Amino acid sequence: MLCEMCGKQSDIIKTISVEGTTLKVCKECSRFGESSEGKGGAKKGTVAAPSRTVVAERLEARERRMRTRSIYADEDTTDLVPEYPRLIREARMARDWKQEDLAAKLNERASVIAKLENGSIRPDDTLLKKLEHELGIKLTEKVSVVKPEGGRSQGKALTLGDMIKKK
Ligand SMILES: [Zn+2]
Repeated sequence: MLCEMCGKQSDIIKTISVEGTTLKVCKECSRFGESSEGKGGAKKGTVAAPSRTVVAERLEARERRMRTRSIYADEDTTDLVPEYPRLIREARMARDWKQEDLAAKLNERASVIAKLENGSIRPDDTLLKKLEHELGIKLTEKVSVVKPEGGRSQGKALTLGDMIKKK
C-alpha cells in the first residue's frame, strides 16, 4: 500500500488521525499523528514529537500530490510544440518550397507562413492539421498541464483558441 502522507510504498500501514484527518500511513509517518487503533501505540516519550510545522508540511505535500494527480488525469492534452516555427521552416525548406509555395498548398497567404515561421502566430487546429499533412511532420505533443501553485491560470487553462484570440 502507499503511505498517504509521504507517498512511499509500505508493507505496514497504520491508520492515524492528524488534525482531524484520518490517514493510512507508513510506520515512519505514523508518529506524526495519533493512532486511531486504540491502545498499544507508540509509547509517549520514546520518539520526539514532531513539530506542527513538520506535520503541516507533510499534509501540504500530500495535498499537492493529490492535486497533481487529478490535474494529470483531467488535463493531459495535445499541444503545439514550442519549436513549431523551426519545424515548419525546416520541413518546408527540405522540400525546397518557398513560403508562397507552402501558402498555396494550405490555401493561406504567404504572410501567414512567414508569421508561423517566426513564431508570431500559432496555427489553429485546422491549419495545424494541414501543416502536418502537407509537410509530413508532427507539430503537437502530449503535455500534462501542471499549474503553478495559486497561479492566476488556476481553474481554467487557456485553450489554443484563447491564445489566438489574444493576438
Ligand atoms: Zn509515510
